[in-house]
Amino acid sequence: MGRIHVLSEAVANKIAAGEVVERPASVVKELLENSLDAGSTRIRINVEAGGKKLIQITDNGCGMVRDDALLAFERHATSKIKNAEDLLSVATLGFRGEALPAIASVSRLRLETCAPDENSGTIVEINGGKIFKVEEAGLPAGTSLTIRDLFFNTPARKKFLKAETTELSHIASLVTHYALAHPDKHFELHSATNAMLVAPPVAGYSERVYQVFGKDVLDQLIPIAAVQPLEHMGLPQPPPWRRKNEEDADGQDAPLPEPGEMRVRGFVSKPEIQKLNRNSIYVFVNGRLIRDRLIQHALTEAYRNILPPTVFPVVLLFLELPGGEVDVNVHPSKTEVRFRQQTVMHDFVRDSIRAALMKARPVPQFTTEIGAHPTASPSLTPGARTDQAFAARDFYPAMPLQTFALHAPVPPSVTERFEFGSGISVEGNNALALARAPQIVPFDGCTPVMPDEPEPPSELAPSLASLKPLGQIRESFILAVNHEGLWIIDQHVAHERVLFEKILKQRAAQMPQSQRLLMPLVLELAPAQQAVFAEISEELNKNGFEAEPFGTRSIAVKLAPAGVEGSQVEHMLHELLDQLMREEQALNMEKVRARIAASIACHAAIKVNMPLEQNKMEWLLAELAKTECPMSCPHGRPVVLRYSMKDIQKAFKRI
Ligand code: ADP
Ligand code: MG
Repeated sequence: MGRIHVLSEAVANKIAAGEVVERPASVVKELLENSLDAGSTRIRINVEAGGKKLIQITDNGCGMVRDDALLAFERHATSKIKNAEDLLSVATLGFRGEALPAIASVSRLRLETCAPDENSGTIVEINGGKIFKVEEAGLPAGTSLTIRDLFFNTPARKKFLKAETTELSHIASLVTHYALAHPDKHFELHSATNAMLVAPPVAGYSERVYQVFGKDVLDQLIPIAAVQPLEHMGLPQPPPWRRKNEEDADGQDAPLPEPGEMRVRGFVSKPEIQKLNRNSIYVFVNGRLIRDRLIQHALTEAYRNILPPTVFPVVLLFLELPGGEVDVNVHPSKTEVRFRQQTVMHDFVRDSIRAALMKARPVPQFTTEIGAHPTASPSLTPGARTDQAFAARDFYPAMPLQTFALHAPVPPSVTERFEFGSGISVEGNNALALARAPQIVPFDGCTPVMPDEPEPPSELAPSLASLKPLGQIRESFILAVNHEGLWIIDQHVAHERVLFEKILKQRAAQMPQSQRLLMPLVLELAPAQQAVFAEISEELNKNGFEAEPFGTRSIAVKLAPAGVEGSQVEHMLHELLDQLMREEQALNMEKVRARIAASIACHAAIKVNMPLEQNKMEWLLAELAKTECPMSCPHGRPVVLRYSMKDIQKAFKRI
């Protein structure tokens, strides 16, 4: 007996329909959701060329009988809802009956499906929406869908697809997060012959986070678990059509069912973890990955005074509430929902997270204003480490950022002159670079934003060559003088600039400098990181690394660039892969090369809080003077500040 039916026009018209096939990851999302709706416990996904060439998903779910296998490709054919009332409490991920026909119309599709109690299964093949084969065959129970040559018949859409790596990392991230939401199921993702994710069932969410991301990430997270009964139903009045039917039936309203309860589980990051964007926030409502402003607001409220407003936490939330409490029929790609009791939901999420954060609050208190080390690493990978936050805090042990007189202005307010109290100013020489700088300028470590265009060679190099170092401020900034005035040089970024240019030159001459690690360093990579690694491993090797795949999701690093401490190599590679992972444009090798060089330079450079001998300071300034762009670091931060003679004279009222 078939289960699928075509929805009536009246119901179909009530559906927030729209485009579902935008890119390979949206195909994977729809098919994955279908497999989950089919009750599968084992789902395997194979892709080739970032899904552009092939997407294959095989499950062990309820399968389809022959009639259903054909009906499934009709528009608005679904087994998941029947009437408009069902739309009010959708319990499945799908409900519109649009995905399969939409996918079939823009690809070469093959369906193999068999319901567990049937003797034989069905094969259907469709090319660009036209059925050309229907066959009976002996098949295992479950469903397998193979999508080849996505958009082969819609070249305009094909043109908009991003690089294979980008598409693959979207797919990897999607599958990873569905695997996180369903720890009791077996998920596998393979790209060609490379196993990107193999996650057998585990006991719970923590085990899954550990299984997928490893111990470091789990250590950065605080678990959340809270439940709250709902006081009333989100829909005080049943919808008009239901009211009418019930009155017809027995002349009075049926008793309302119990309002139920809402539940939140998952993880939020400790305050020292700071991300530059929202890419590490994942919220699931009843198993559905969504984007929601209300929940986003609740998160911001929960972290108020714990995180600065410009940075974001890592969040993995699984919200569960009765189907009737959430309207999933509000957005074409089903990624937005509407809570029927918005305030209740908002406050519940905010308070549950706040309470967990307070409980986990370390002693002494958070000093986020000093310890900020935002990273742009976009997903849950061991990109941001607590030790950096503390290192930065040590750097200014008692001095809040805001009172540091000579600090560079925080973008986007781009100014060329830094106020120096009584109307005197210091030239930063960095306006150009700052205009392209990241939103937040971290103290130490590397940010991903690189100036895209080459900076003009500086005219200031000759004056730098005449600098005489006097000493250091807090063992971090070199004070130097020449006839032009007083200069302050950030020793870390100055050295970073020197190394950056040197590394690029060595790379161009194919003579990178390497060091052998005492022991090969084995790194676990998240699936999306693996995709980027495959793309850039050759370039890494040309920059002094020797890093090779090691097992299914690890790499072994034997050689690392000279100057980078062994302990830094792991962090550096994770950071680099994360930066490149969310590149929307195709990875252009020149950019990759510059990022690698910037990252090596950052990790090999002299640190702040490091005493320097006179001759070392002289050497550094001389080397800086020789660089092509001595005025800003490869990440766009200023290297030097100049307090000109004129300003000094003005300050002393001599002119
Ligand atoms: P929807 O998921 O909104 O119902 P789809 O077009 O995605 O619409 O799928 C149409 C129907 O095909 C589903 O309602 C379901 O009955 C059936 N179906 C799709 N994928 C599977 C699968 N993997 N296993 C079993 N049935 C499936
Ligand atoms: Mg579906």
